[in-house]
Amino acid sequence: MKKIVTCTVCPNGCEIQVDYTTKEDAVLNGYGCKRGITYAIDECFEPKRTFTSSIKISGSDRRALPVRTDKPIPKDLIMKAAEAVSAMELKVPVKCGEVLKENFLDTEAKLVSAMTLEGGDK
Ligand code: SF4
Repeated sequence: MKKIVTCTVCPNGCEIQVDYTTKEDAVLNGYGCKRGITYAIDECFEPKRTFTSSIKISGSDRRALPVRTDKPIPKDLIMKAAEAVSAMELKVPVKCGEVLKENFLDTEAKLVSAMTLEGGDK
């Protein structure tokens, strides 16, 4: 199988060609550094994405708090992650970067706040 992966690890955006039948026999071309190898292999065999969403919050003028994972989680867990946060509800105050859930969905990623909200925020 052949696949072209655009590396998003840095702004260079290398287009990496991956030719493979298994993870072990993959042949890669076009990467600018070793980080691209890891990214392209993950993208072919275990794609991951940083999860972003929002959680209902009370005590603020805002109705929802933006949240994200502190690192990418397996792409096939994104729907489960969305279901998990839709069932959550928070109260102010919350600091930007505050950990809301350790080991989110057993991924070792933390679910963190992406915004500081005190009472009465707009
Ligand atoms: S392969 Fe290396 S240089 Fe190229 S985009 Fe990825 S991180 Fe940047």
